[in-house]
Amino acid sequence: MLTITVSSLSGGQGKTTTSLFLGRLLSRQGLPTLMLDSDPQHNLTTYLGFELEPNQPTLLEFLKKTVAPEDCIYPTQDNDNLFLIPADDQLDTVQDYLSNSGVGATLLKRRLEAISKIFKVCIIDAPPQRSQICLTVIGAADFLIIPAEASVKGYGSLVRTLDLLSGLQDVGATNAQVLGVLPFRDRWFGNTQAQESRAAVDGMRDEVGEESVIPSIRESERYKQAINKRTTLSELGYTDLEYPFEILIEKIHAALGGK
Ligand code: ATP
Ligand code: MG
Repeated sequence: MLTITVSSLSGGQGKTTTSLFLGRLLSRQGLPTLMLDSDPQHNLTTYLGFELEPNQPTLLEFLKKTVAPEDCIYPTQDNDNLFLIPADDQLDTVQDYLSNSGVGATLLKRRLEAISKIFKVCIIDAPPQRSQICLTVIGAADFLIIPAEASVKGYGSLVRTLDLLSGLQDVGATNAQVLGVLPFRDRWFGNTQAQESRAAVDGMRDEVGEESVIPSIRESERYKQAINKRTTLSELGYTDLEYPFEILIEKIHAALGGK
């Protein structure tokens, strides 16, 4: 199983949007795909149409190992290959458990080993804060996708995420490599890119190198529309808007080939 964490250390950088479309597209290609919602705000869980009862197991129980791992994995209405370990707001209570465990950064990685034969790909939607949950989801990853708004704030989010990653790599708390940096809400007026967007994307290229910056997600309401209709952009007739995800999926297939 290839584990990919979608992380960026600010709110509203496109983490959940990217996770959702990647999971949906990969599973529709026939790959058994597990999505993991690691944000106590649980937007991914909501977008996938789940309304959990308070007693239903989530990522909290998966991490604490209080129930069998399989009991935390739910099929989705999306398609037969897409599964979810959901979250609810109780997930925040796992922060202390992770820090008291002394092995918080590697805990999720070990828990995922139990189910690594069932799925080909695991996509993890990370929370925006530099929390214990954030550390464990980066610790579990083979690769990181870093979405970052094409703005000053987004550039800052990228830099902070890269700093955290290299700090964790230095102490052996993760082996994750950057699969790609994905500019989010890139603004264009006709054929002209907004100045702030261009400066931010140029800064991202300087930071990680041209080849690691994925074609942008443009500023557009269509993404939200596709999420609300529980469908893909190409099925809504906006194939061009799906291009950034196609490039990421090519990279994922290349990484799977090497595994
Ligand atoms: P958080 O840190 O709060 O979890 P996030 O990084 O997961 O945020 P998203 O929730 O994916 O970010 O996106 C932020 C908002 O931008 C959402 O309301 C989403 O619907 C909206 N959005 C998604 N795609 C686009 C787009 N292409 N253009 C403009 N807005 C978008
Ligand atoms: Mg989110």
